[in-house]
Amino acid sequence: MKLSGAVLLALPLVALGLVAQWLLPGATARLATLLMIYVIAVVGTGVYTGNSGIMSFGHCGFMALGAYASGLVTINPRILHVALPHLPPMLHGLAGHSLWLGLVAALLVVAVTALVFGLPMARLGGEAATIVTLGFLVIVYVVLVASGNITRGSQTFFGIPSGLDPLTVMPIAALSVVLARLYKESHSGLALRAAREDDIAATSIGVNIPRERFAAWLLSALLCGVAGALLAHFLGAFSPKDFYFNLTFLLMAMLILGGISTVTGALGGTVVMFVVLQLLRQIEGGATIAGVHLPPMFGLTSIGGALVILLSMYKLRDGLFGLRELDERFADRLAAPGQARTAAGRPGTGVERLVGKLEVDGVGRRFGGLIALEDVSFTVEPGQVVGLIGPNGAGKSTLINAISGVVPASSGTVRLGGHDVAQMPVHKVPLAGLGRTFQNIRLFRNLTVLENVRAAAEAAGARGEAAVTEARAALAAVGLAEMSGRLAATLPYGAQRRLEIARALALRPSFLLLDEPAAGMNPTETNELIAVLRQIREDHSIGLMVVEHDLKLIMRLCDRIVVLNKGRKIAEGTPDEVRADPHVVEAYIGSRAAEAV
Ligand code: ADP
Ligand code: MG
Repeated sequence: MKLSGAVLLALPLVALGLVAQWLLPGATARLATLLMIYVIAVVGTGVYTGNSGIMSFGHCGFMALGAYASGLVTINPRILHVALPHLPPMLHGLAGHSLWLGLVAALLVVAVTALVFGLPMARLGGEAATIVTLGFLVIVYVVLVASGNITRGSQTFFGIPSGLDPLTVMPIAALSVVLARLYKESHSGLALRAAREDDIAATSIGVNIPRERFAAWLLSALLCGVAGALLAHFLGAFSPKDFYFNLTFLLMAMLILGGISTVTGALGGTVVMFVVLQLLRQIEGGATIAGVHLPPMFGLTSIGGALVILLSMYKLRDGLFGLRELDERFADRLAAPGQARTAAGRPGTGVERLVGKLEVDGVGRRFGGLIALEDVSFTVEPGQVVGLIGPNGAGKSTLINAISGVVPASSGTVRLGGHDVAQMPVHKVPLAGLGRTFQNIRLFRNLTVLENVRAAAEAAGARGEAAVTEARAALAAVGLAEMSGRLAATLPYGAQRRLEIARALALRPSFLLLDEPAAGMNPTETNELIAVLRQIREDHSIGLMVVEHDLKLIMRLCDRIVVLNKGRKIAEGTPDEVRADPHVVEAYIGSRAAEAV
């Protein structure tokens, strides 16, 4: 299904390649070839930048490495001693091979480099990662300039058989688009996009963010390496500065113009920018338009290009092509509404599923001098619904965070089925069986409703159609089946809260921890929520731990209630016991409220 969408997206390139090869005059065909090389580079960069949300200045570095690696393999042996008189003898044998071997060499060199830089870098997100990519670009440049014996330093590297057919580049460009599109929908791509939207929420559904960042980095580096090798053969002669800031900014501009987060945007932005720049370049040298003769205007191309970007960013924050893929829009029209079916089995996640009691034992948490939690202990039996109440600042959210590992406890243990989950890496806790929601909703806002939930199902081991089926079942359980195609950010508030529950449910957890699920809901929405939670409990025999201010909700829903005040547990028992407890009345409920519930 997704393959057909990806192929659809690549079709314009196939058409362009064919037309350029057989119909266009030589100079225009050359431009089409260059355009397709840019497409590979921009779509390749987008695999990393688009899915992770991390701007990269570094991908031209991979292009440079691809260019030089393939250059050394394909350089004409008769020119070798003129171009590279000091080349170490062991590298002499490389010369004189075909473009295809050149591409293999580019892939190898780029893979090794991407591996070395990518492993430590994958831990970084946001601006820190961007700065490292910038450093990477500079390092590659400096190394190329300094390695004069192999690269001719800052001088022009020449002797590569040049002259690429459109028909040679087209299949590679089309394949890049297909790969990028498939990656985006893949398990790794979806997980990374989820992390781009909200890293904490992504971790809470079991996404190993560094691993997915690394996968995207590697794939995008390889694509850019290929683009660099092709560009080298297109140019025939080049130097390190051809792969430095000018090219970096050109490619970034193309990506931003089209829209960073989609393959459609990368593809479309490249084409639009390329055409605009070519037109401006023609006018820059002086032209006659509709009978009006224009004088040469030096700098028009640069200034015009910059204006195009500024204008489009001002008018369209998400780029010319927005947040949805072209093929998704087609699919929306064609697809019948999906049905919720019972979920099939799922392969392992490498994390043992823990069942049994949830035991909170002596948990404490300090923030500097502030004691947010102190020595809190209680047990939730499988399938039980436990309410967690207490005044503002009592430590309820901190307790949920400590149990789910998002904010580790400073002391005490949390055991699930007898295993200490506090010892696990935080992204494995959800896979072991603890799903959660957040007091301040944390959705993947620019993903669809279905993708939000599918990300969780996939992180928990479901694949392909099975993941979609499970996601739809979870959406049906919270009454959102009809909304699956909408972007999460566009849902009404109450539905957003329910979507967060569906996302946690798709993990098939043993326990769900819900932090104020009814906050901000009106009475109708609250009643719907109670019905949903009751149903979940019945259908899935999941244990629930519900933090809530709404005492009516707590009293109606829960088997047991734990009361916190100032970080300590002050009472625990059935709703009736807690309601009658004088400590609770004093600390929280107040005598009037106690009468009311
Ligand atoms: P509740 O959810 O019961 O309203 P919280 O668990 O959010 O309470 O907060 C408990 C106490 O811990 C509060 O005094 C709050 O200010 C403090 N606190 C919570 N998170 C942090 C943090 N990340 N840094 C510092 N203090 C925090
Ligand atoms: Mg709270």
